[in-house]
Amino acid sequence: MYFMSYLFNLTLKLIEGELEESYKAAMERLNNFFNIGWIHNLPSVFVVEDRTTIDCLRNEKTEPWVVGWSDRRKVFLLSREKMKTESAREYSIDEYNALLAHELCHLFFNSSTNGVRTPIWLNEGLSGYVSGDIQFKEKPKSFSSFLEFFNKDGAEVYDESAFAIKVLIDAFGKEKILELLQKIKETSGNMTKGKFDDLFKEVYGFEPTYDAFNDLTSPKDY
Ligand SMILES: [Zn+2]
Repeated sequence: MYFMSYLFNLTLKLIEGELEESYKAAMERLNNFFNIGWIHNLPSVFVVEDRTTIDCLRNEKTEPWVVGWSDRRKVFLLSREKMKTESAREYSIDEYNALLAHELCHLFFNSSTNGVRTPIWLNEGLSGYVSGDIQFKEKPKSFSSFLEFFNKDGAEVYDESAFAIKVLIDAFGKEKILELLQKIKETSGNMTKGKFDDLFKEVYGFEPTYDAFNDLTSPKDY
């Protein structure tokens, strides 16, 4: 019987230079947004050099757009130098900084909800909005797909979710989002779409529907 087993040859370094600046700025922004003082046991960044290693770490054949992910206190990023050859597109330094902040934001979400990851659109939307990722994305004409991503993943979740969060925050402020995260935390992971819709309504006074989100956007924006 043949089987393949792998060894990851890790090298420990201090985060320095551009990445350090980017990391510090992201942590500061995230601590502010989430009202968390995360200054000890800071998240570690794992830089991955190729697609094969990503697939091996994630134990699946990943799509070419998967360039970063996070896990409790760890952030994994494809190295910036390998973006061009090992992913679907190149990343500018600003986009790479936003990617780091995006993945770090998932750790703050995880911490705020005590490990509850759903709804995926809320999780990805917050990462997209708070990281500044949103500035590199095209604003959707209207909302019509993000709510599909309750507990499934996919490239399309990034099309609308950050803009949905922006609309919510512009209309109601960030405290409501934090209140929603607190309610999600209180479910202890016992979360269904129906349960989430109820919690959302408790916080915002309406259920999350495309009509509700489209109504929140000012018509003259489009
Ligand atoms: Zn993400």
